Amino acid sequence: MQAGDLYQNADWKTEKHVPVIDCPDQVAVDELCEVKISLGKEIAHPNTTEHHIRWIQLFFKPEGAKFAYQVGNFEFSAHGESTEGPNTGPVYTHHAVTTALKLTKPGTLLATAFCNIHGFWESSKAISVK
Ligand code: FE
Repeated sequence: MQAGDLYQNADWKTEKHVPVIDCPDQVAVDELCEVKISLGKEIAHPNTTEHHIRWIQLFFKPEGAKFAYQVGNFEFSAHGESTEGPNTGPVYTHHAVTTALKLTKPGTLLATAFCNIHGFWESSKAISVK
């Protein structure tokens, strides 16, 4: 078995686990570009002590390159835990993140996410550089 076999993909409009990558389709070389990654854009994913998104990771693979580069690793650590028991805590980290990056080459952004009970999910989006 390979790690990649564990990653699921689907249409984010009908599947609440798929990361949605929001960013421009094209950027200029060295232009600072915001990238927002969220889950459950159309269908909300739960955020409870028992069922939540643990992390999102973002990678960039330049066109024609062999290897991808890690852009960021974003952890969501609070899901209602407290000494009173599950879902009684005062804070729940929402599973969305906005980061910013600059590119010098076109390629593909790849987002991965992990649900504590439904495993690994992925999606990608091409971005061109003028
Ligand atoms: Fe889930």
